[in-house]
Amino acid sequence: MINHFKGGIHPPESKLTAGLPTIDMPVPKQVVIPMSQHIGAPCEPVVKKGDHVKVGTLIGDSSARVTCPIYSSVSGTVKAIQPILTAAGTEMTSIVIETDGEQTLEEGFGPVEAETKEEKLEAIKRSGLVGLGGAGFPTWFKLTPPPNEPFDILLINGAECEPYITSDYREMKENPRMIMEGIMRVLDITGIEKALIGIEDNKRDAIEDLIALDPAYDRIKVISLKTRYPQGAEKQLIYALTGRKVPPGKLPSSVGCLVLSISTVSFIESYFRTGIPLVKRRITVSGGAVANPGNIRVCIGTSLQDVFDFCGGFKEEPRKIIMGGPMMGVAQFSMQNSILKQTNALLALTEDEINTQKESPCIRCGRCVNACPMNLLPLQMNALIVKGRFEAAEKYHVRDCIECGCCSYVCPASRHLVQSFRYGKAELALIAKAKQAAAKGGA
Ligand code: SF4
Ligand code: SF4
Repeated sequence: MINHFKGGIHPPESKLTAGLPTIDMPVPKQVVIPMSQHIGAPCEPVVKKGDHVKVGTLIGDSSARVTCPIYSSVSGTVKAIQPILTAAGTEMTSIVIETDGEQTLEEGFGPVEAETKEEKLEAIKRSGLVGLGGAGFPTWFKLTPPPNEPFDILLINGAECEPYITSDYREMKENPRMIMEGIMRVLDITGIEKALIGIEDNKRDAIEDLIALDPAYDRIKVISLKTRYPQGAEKQLIYALTGRKVPPGKLPSSVGCLVLSISTVSFIESYFRTGIPLVKRRITVSGGAVANPGNIRVCIGTSLQDVFDFCGGFKEEPRKIIMGGPMMGVAQFSMQNSILKQTNALLALTEDEINTQKESPCIRCGRCVNACPMNLLPLQMNALIVKGRFEAAEKYHVRDCIECGCCSYVCPASRHLVQSFRYGKAELALIAKAKQAAAKGGA
């Protein structure tokens, strides 16, 4: 049985690029690769200025418990190692590489030889893979649940519920067998018995393609989900497919679920076959301002400017550039920002595609409450945060907000709700840090 989560919205889908096959973007003149593209500790550079690197050369690594190695996406010369503002707006040590255009591959790549579960998990760690659906959680870490929270089901997220984005959809159309083989491999590594692939019913042809492969993959079931944003959010997907509810502050493993995206499992299979780490990815480049929207495979570290230039530039001045989808993506302040491992889309939106209305006072209509898929009270949380009462907002569970943007979307007063929740959560993190430091100082 399919369960329907509470709330959510159905914005215009605008999947302009769904029918456009993936094309490879030529190698840019330069890439800038930040040393953190994942949740966990940033990497330290393991190359120095002047070094020659190849495609797949390890350039950043860390001995921290939760981290993910970083590889060069190009062959060329390290021109600089310096702090650079990243797409998320934070400063991060980054490696600037001038490409030589040769795209020489690092030596020694080939099918991964790993026998035991530990060796296979270590291989996934060394692949540099993070969840390709957006959050950037290191995949090897996700595959390693706490001993008291064993997985009993693998859920594959093929919802791709954000407007415009068609990156996973193209993977399903172009590499269905690689996806299924990747799922079988993850089942083998984790010892999980079965997998469910959840796909929104606006991608019927992709559902049919995968179902057509089914006889060979009887441990995998493809499930058609109602098209409703944020169907692809982890907790909503888990509920839709299994009826299980992840408690606040807990991970999917607390209810026995491992959730991976379509592109993530497909990459795992490709990595085990070739040994080539994560250095490229598919992104959807779209929005009304883009001259030639498309699905493009790019080297990680390519600048936004280079990507848009490859897509023919702008046919009209964009009002907003977003990395990711229009609901959960991050507005960009510089065209020199880099495409990261977890970037699945790059949008250039026109005036008509964004809400430019000024914020006005809350009229207490309650629409935000009805739309919230996390059962929160956005109006109360917002009222407290704008007054600087962050700890009071915490009592209203602002930390459980998944920043889906449904409340902002339906708000007739154009309240900047998501922005205030992001701000409130950042302030709460600072408060917690200060308390920790004070406790240490007093100890
Ligand atoms: S939707 Fe907007 S106006 Fe309505 S209650 Fe929520 S914050 Fe207030
Ligand atoms: S952004 Fe947060 S508060 Fe708003 S609807 Fe989504 S989960 Fe609820």
